Amino acid sequence: MISKENVYAAILGGIVADALGVPYEFKSREDMQKDPATKMTNGGVHNQPTGTWSDDSSMTLATMDSLINGVNYEDMISKFCAWIFEAEYTPHDDVFDYGKTTYRALRNFREESMDPLDCGLTGERDNGNGSLMRIMPAILYAYANEFIPEEKSEFINNVSSLTHAHPISQASCNIYRFVVEQILENPGEDFKIIITNAIDKSREFYENEDFECFYNIYNDLFHMSENELSSRGYVVYALEIALYSCYHTDSYKDAVLKAVNYGDDTDTNGIITGGLAALYYGFNSIPEEWLEQIVKLDYIEGLCDEFYDSL
Ligand SMILES: [Mg+2]
Repeated sequence: MISKENVYAAILGGIVADALGVPYEFKSREDMQKDPATKMTNGGVHNQPTGTWSDDSSMTLATMDSLINGVNYEDMISKFCAWIFEAEYTPHDDVFDYGKTTYRALRNFREESMDPLDCGLTGERDNGNGSLMRIMPAILYAYANEFIPEEKSEFINNVSSLTHAHPISQASCNIYRFVVEQILENPGEDFKIIITNAIDKSREFYENEDFECFYNIYNDLFHMSENELSSRGYVVYALEIALYSCYHTDSYKDAVLKAVNYGDDTDTNGIITGGLAALYYGFNSIPEEWLEQIVKLDYIEGLCDEFYDSL
């Protein structure tokens, strides 16, 4: 079972944290430490007004909008194309940020007419955080529709593969899925226990795979010092930042500020962390003064309503 509050929390908790991070994208950790983010603001390299969310949220909204009518990968990738090429699902009818793996995958669909599930890039270097940042609606959809475990992982792999088809990207999305599921299945449980249990379940799930990249997550991530974490745009780093930030804080606000204040890919680290944190602490944990500054909030809430009603 999933509630409307769960949908609002998971989606808006992510989008608010994306908007929180947008003005700080590409800032070094040193600079963030000197002058940390504390609130929603404007400016930065993209020079956007306060409350502006980025590609991460645009692709999340496109995913939701597609899933409202069921699973159709051609429709989903078409909606991603409507975002990147026609600026649909954007706060100000402008695409100011996108990842190059995503762009190349969407061009494969738009210009080369490739099959949607063949469009995503498969190279080891094509493991940016561009599918993990938009995977939340797919996880909620699979959970609400009670997919069996094999269906769930295949579905998440496929949704990732529209742009990011390498097994590391797919598995990162699925490890994230285990955390979402554990939160939904264990209301009231301690967040640290939920995160640890989710990691254990994902380890069992991937026991026959040889993913050296998840060494930290499967060993001593939570005992590492912050300086050992990277906040650059690699999917495994983004997952580590999200898990670490949720594990070592006690509120939505502290979790997303922690993730953003590592610098570098602040908006994406924000959305990945924020979705989990708000789902755990509840929609009301998102600071009201942040939420009300979100551009096109009514539109986003309307889409959350439609998505929830379709589940
Ligand atoms: Mg972004």
